[in-house]
Formats: sequence, C-alpha cells, structure tokens
Amino acid sequence: MAEKYDVVVVGGGISGLSAAKLLTESGLNVVVLEANDRVGGRTFTVRNKQVKYVDLGGAYVGPTQNRLLRLSKELGIETYKVNEVEHLIHHVKGKSYPFKGPFPPMWNPLAYLDYNNLWRTMDEMGKEIPSEAPWKAPHAEEWDKMTMQDFIDKICWTNAAKSFATLFVNVDVTSEPHEVSALWFLWYVKQCGGTTRIFSTTNGGQERKFVGGSGQISEKIMERLGGRVKLRKPVVRIDQSGESVVVETLDHELYEGKYVISAIPPALGLKIHFSPPLPPMRNQLINRIPMGSVIKCIVYYKETFWRKKGYCGTMIIEDEDAAIGLTLDDTKPDGSFPAIIGFILARKCRRLTGLTKEERKTRLCELYAKVLGSEEALHILFAMRKIPDSEIWKPEPESVDVPALPITTTFWERNLPSVPGLLKLIGFSTFFTSVAVAGLFAYKKGLLVRN
Ligand SMILES: Cc1cc2nc3c(=O)[nH]c(=O)nc-3n(C[C@H](O)[C@H](O)[C@H](O)COP(=O)(O)OP(=O)(O)OC[C@H]3O[C@@H](n4cnc5c(N)ncnc54)[C@H](O)[C@@H]3O)c2cc1C
Repeated sequence: MAEKYDVVVVGGGISGLSAAKLLTESGLNVVVLEANDRVGGRTFTVRNKQVKYVDLGGAYVGPTQNRLLRLSKELGIETYKVNEVEHLIHHVKGKSYPFKGPFPPMWNPLAYLDYNNLWRTMDEMGKEIPSEAPWKAPHAEEWDKMTMQDFIDKICWTNAAKSFATLFVNVDVTSEPHEVSALWFLWYVKQCGGTTRIFSTTNGGQERKFVGGSGQISEKIMERLGGRVKLRKPVVRIDQSGESVVVETLDHELYEGKYVISAIPPALGLKIHFSPPLPPMRNQLINRIPMGSVIKCIVYYKETFWRKKGYCGTMIIEDEDAAIGLTLDDTKPDGSFPAIIGFILARKCRRLTGLTKEERKTRLCELYAKVLGSEEALHILFAMRKIPDSEIWKPEPESVDVPALPITTTFWERNLPSVPGLLKLIGFSTFFTSVAVAGLFAYKKGLLVRN
C-alpha cells in the first residue's frame, strides 16, 4: 500500500527542501524522498577536528541572491565576508601582477579595448534575453547555435582577451567554451547580475560564505520538516497514469501524491522510469544537459602568510600547466584555520582527476609558492580536497543586510571603440587624409579649378 501525501518531493537539496518547507507551512502534507544518506545535494559541509567545517559543494552567496539570503537568515545562519582587503594577483605568462578591483587591469591598449568590448558586448546581449524565457530572445536561435568558443573567436581580437574569456567561462560554469551554447551562457551570466557581478568577490557572487557552512541550510530545514524527509530513497519510477501520482523508490516503497515536484538535476531524470513517458521535447532536453567538472581543493596553512605579503588570497591564474584557475582566501571568519581554496576547472579537472590527494597537494603548493613568490606556501599543515506561478515568480525584495550596490561603468568603458572599431576609425581617417592630400596635390598642380 502506498503512503498518501498532497505532494511528493523528489530530491532533498536546497530546492526540494525549500519547496517542501513552503508547502508544509501552507498546511499541505508533504514528503521528501532523497537518494543519498544526507540532505544538501550539491551543498555539502564536512565537519572534523582538523578543519572544523568546510564546504565541498556550493558555498558562496552574494548580493542579488535575495531568496537564499532571506531563507538562511530565517534559519538563523549568519554570513561573513570573504577576505579581499589586500591585493589580488593576476598570474599570466609566468609573472604575478597585484591589482585591486573585480578584473585585472590591462596595460596593452589594444588588449584593454578588446576586454572592454568583450564585457560590454556580453552584458548588452544579456539584456536582450528574457530571464524566464531565454528562447524568446530576438536572436535566440542564432545565439543557441553558437558555442561560447564561436562567440569568443568572433568578438575577441587579442590572445589576452581570448585566454581570459576562456577562464571566465571555466570559472562561471565549470565547462569549456566549446561545450556551452552562447545563448545559455549569456542568459546564465545575466541571471547572476552580469559579467562584473558574477566574477566579483566584493559586491559580487563570491562576497560571502555561511558561518558554519552552507550545508546547514538543508539540515535546518530537515529538522523543521521532522519525519517528512526520507533518506536513502532513490526514486526509480513515477507513474501518473492514474488519478494520483505513484512514486516508487529503489527499495520498492510506494508514495502516492496529488502532485510531484522533481527537484533533481535534469540529467538525473534519465534514471527514472516515467509512465506515461516524458514528452519527447523533455526527453531530448534531459539527454543534452551534462554537468560541469570541478574539484575544490583547500590547503590549510599555519598562518595567513599571504596577507602579510599584502595579498588577499585571490589568485587568477592563466597558465595551461597550472592545475588551478582561481583561488580565494578560505580562512574562517575568526581568523582560525588559515586556508587557500583553489578550483580545478573543466578540462583541467578531467585531466587531473586521476591524481592522488598527495600529488594534487604537491602540485598546488608548488603553484602557490610560485604565484605568491613565497616558500611558506610549501609548508602545509594538512590538506583536504577536499505553489502558484505568482508565488514562484514573485520578485524577492532585496536583502537589507546584503544590498546589491550598483555596478557602474565609466564613460570610456561605454564609448571606447572595439579593436575592429578602432581599425575602421583609423581606416576612415587614413582614407580622408589621403583624399585631402590628393586634393591638395591636384589643386597645386592646377588640376582643380576654383571658381
Ligand atoms: C562544487 C560546487 C560549487 C558550487 N558553488 C556554488 C556557490 O559558491 N554559490 C552558489 O550559489 N552555487 C554554487 N553551486 C551550485 C549550487 O550548489 C547548486 O545550484 C544547488 O546546490 C542546487 O540545489 P538543488 O537542490 O537544485 O539540487 P541538488 O543540490 O543537486 O539536489 C538534488 C538532490 O536530489 C537527490 N536526487 C537525485 N536523484 C534522485 C532520485 N532519483 N531520487 C531521490 N533523490 C534524488 C540528490 O541526491 C540531491 O540531494 C556549486 C555547485 C557545486 C557542485
């Protein structure tokens, strides 16, 4: 006999649990079926004596993530700011350049124009894409046929901009530019508040972390839901051929609901048998949504030696041989457990996934020693790898505690030409100068007669 509920939620990550919380608070009888032996899904806080706690999955939260900020505040979970007091480092062509601000400065004027044009073009294209229906963008089909690699090749003229644009895609969606549709990526960046917001620590996506770890969000909701969350219950079959929906788990338990909410990553829908089968378009979709690839590596040190050298711990590393593309300070908010977190992204993640923890640790420490110019990076203490539509689309008021300060652009950022634009300008002015010189020559030679 099936247990009967108003709503059966499949998946106990933040999405499934927050849906279940909302519905339960509205007086509905809900059950959450989670495949794993823990809740949290892609957020995962590991706790032990050595590191106290560490987030191995999703961890950062910043301005504009107002729903998550409201939910975590309601659950009594505080946030703290990721350290960005001292200088960041841009490591490129084997050299480290300290800088401040969201993006490394460009000294080569052509590269500067190219970068400026890249961010401006991506943000302008993003404005054309409707958040709730990206396929309705005026150029949806054209941009969806294009990969981000095509886009980068089309927009960027300099190798410097091409290489940074690749890292930008790697960091944002843990994938390679040739793996993602330009329409999807531009929509994703727009959703996150634009190119500057998504990449920034201060006033951006990486501004804050949760004191005690992001896993608490799901754990605290589970506490509130009591016995309504069932662990180790992978859903394998959803049958909606009758009046109600019957959901079957791997151990052959049956749950019956008036509705089912699927809160699992779309690709995992392939593991579930649906009766009647999913509509053909949905089937096509879930066959085409792979996950990205990333390994978060946290290296713990005796002290925050990088801060003493005037660095905040952020390193943006452009080097094909380097395992890591981006690092951030991962020291606890009270200054304990000094640590640097590094991200092994996309192609490099796939390349290095076979290394042992020790091999990864050695590579990382050697890299940090080089980028920070410090032997201390080699001395390690220890390392770890590792409801209704109107309700859903209701705009979330801005968080009072974490307001999204406006991201401003300068007159020059808005109006400087792109590299091809500059070349055209030079071309025109050369053309007009040549015409003027030829005219003067003709006049002097008496070929042009003045009335
Ligand atoms: C390494 C990493 C770093 C990230 N960093 C950030 C960040 O800093 N900031 C940020 O905002 N986001 C970040 N993200 C993204 C963020 O973690 C996710 O967007 C978010 O956690 C997704 O939550 P979800 O509930 O939608 O899905 P999930 O967390 O994937 O939850 C789905 C749940 O469904 C369960 N499940 C799957 N199949 C079945 C089944 N058949 N039956 C029952 N249960 C099933 C899974 O076990 C899982 O618990 C990161 C993600 C990763 C992986």
